[in-house]
Amino acid sequence: MSVTGVCQICEHRVAEYSCDRCGATVCAFDYDGEMGFCADCAQKAKPDNRRGDTFQL
Ligand SMILES: [Zn+2]
Ligand SMILES: [Zn+2]
Repeated sequence: MSVTGVCQICEHRVAEYSCDRCGATVCAFDYDGEMGFCADCAQKAKPDNRRGDTFQL
């Protein structure tokens, strides 16, 4: 895998992965390895009832 450029999420780190959903190139920090999506897509794809996540009600 040869992804070059800057992460499209944080626009700061070097992109190492590409999202399987939107094709965005993202860094390891903004990549959800379980889903193969970028952080943005992973957040949208996940159900609203996030167990154990107290980030927001
Ligand atoms: Zn990033
Ligand atoms: Zn994506």
